[in-house]
Amino acid sequence: MKIESYRRLCCGLAAYFLTFSLCAQKVSVGLFFDVPVKSATLAVQSGSYAVIVDDTLLIAAIDKGASMQLLSNSGGVRLRISGENTGTFASVKVVGMGDEGTFSILCHNPPLPMRSYAQHAFVRSARDGSGLLIINQLDEHFYLSGVVEAETGCTAKPEFFKTQAILSRTYLYAHFNRHGKDGFNLCDGVHCQAYKGLLTRCRRIRAAVGETEGTIVIDREKRPITPSFHANCGGQTCHSENVWREKLPYLRSIRDEHCKYQVGARWQKRIALSEWRDYMSKNGIRVKNPRQLEFEQPLRKKYYEVNGKKVELTKVRHRFGLRSTFFDVRIAGGEALLTGKGYGHGVGLCQEGAMQMAEKGMTCENILRHYYKNTRLISFSQALSTTVMQQDSMLFLFNPWRNELPDTTTFVDDVVSQDSAELQN
Ligand SMILES: [Zn+2]
Ligand SMILES: [Zn+2]
Repeated sequence: MKIESYRRLCCGLAAYFLTFSLCAQKVSVGLFFDVPVKSATLAVQSGSYAVIVDDTLLIAAIDKGASMQLLSNSGGVRLRISGENTGTFASVKVVGMGDEGTFSILCHNPPLPMRSYAQHAFVRSARDGSGLLIINQLDEHFYLSGVVEAETGCTAKPEFFKTQAILSRTYLYAHFNRHGKDGFNLCDGVHCQAYKGLLTRCRRIRAAVGETEGTIVIDREKRPITPSFHANCGGQTCHSENVWREKLPYLRSIRDEHCKYQVGARWQKRIALSEWRDYMSKNGIRVKNPRQLEFEQPLRKKYYEVNGKKVELTKVRHRFGLRSTFFDVRIAGGEALLTGKGYGHGVGLCQEGAMQMAEKGMTCENILRHYYKNTRLISFSQALSTTVMQQDSMLFLFNPWRNELPDTTTFVDDVVSQDSAELQN
């Protein structure tokens, strides 16, 4: 073996073992989880990568421009590198040397837009045999930057990005093992948190993630909150139980002046009276005079109510594809004219309101306290270096396919309880 090849082999192996033994706070994200991917091309965009098949080093280092085709093939992954068939394997790991590097994934079947990702990729057959399971394993801060950008774009003030970074991290820590049985931590869809890879690599977002490192929001019970948010509340947020079943003490309806003049603050929709009347009639609201179907909610209500008969506003919203449940109804000219406020389910943080608060110079803590009642921020950065969570992550690193991770809910309580005295003050 030539010295150079030998050196590259050693580097590859060293990178592999370093990656799987030293790095903490990695997140494994199941990509395209709802889509049965049959074939895809993975191309190196920066850095050097080792390719490991069935736990054996196949290639010590491939560099920028190199690409590999991954095909689902009778319960395994058929791998072609630069056009050459290398075989079918149970697993293919593409490991960035020194924990660095970026790569793109272009799905051919089904065709999906190309996306870029940081650090590592693991590929194997999906458990249900429907196609490939592609996992992106990466540092928490890369993952959170991707999530924040997918949710917000790149133009707001830093305190708004810090707010979103804290919420995304709160979700991550509280649901770290949501897909443990699938062999990874979280999926990249809205089932968990939308994650579309590196996107434009917005510097402000990366800085916000760094500046809030380890910080999450907890409730009075010292648990990470459910960090729900929506585009615009229309001037008043919703109680959680008015939208979902669960009543959460921090997801209370509040008045919000900050979002009033923003894009999502107002809407209108016209619906044929016959359609509106038919739907209401099927839901037990029958009227002789259509004008009786008129409805007002100066403050948010849970039900559309006429003559003591009612239907849940969330149901009406879903049926007619409305922007929000916060609307009035006028009947005129054979139509139901809906005049509404806000965009989204209305529970938790109002993004357009939060952006305006950041514009006015308020801190992420002010913003979070405004929308989530009786909560506080804590930092996990200290705790993470010594707790069960890191051990979980390490176990996960050694075997990203394992499906028996401990329940992380326990660790969250254990860690936060150290902080309880402060919370009560
Ligand atoms: Zn998910
Ligand atoms: Zn609002």
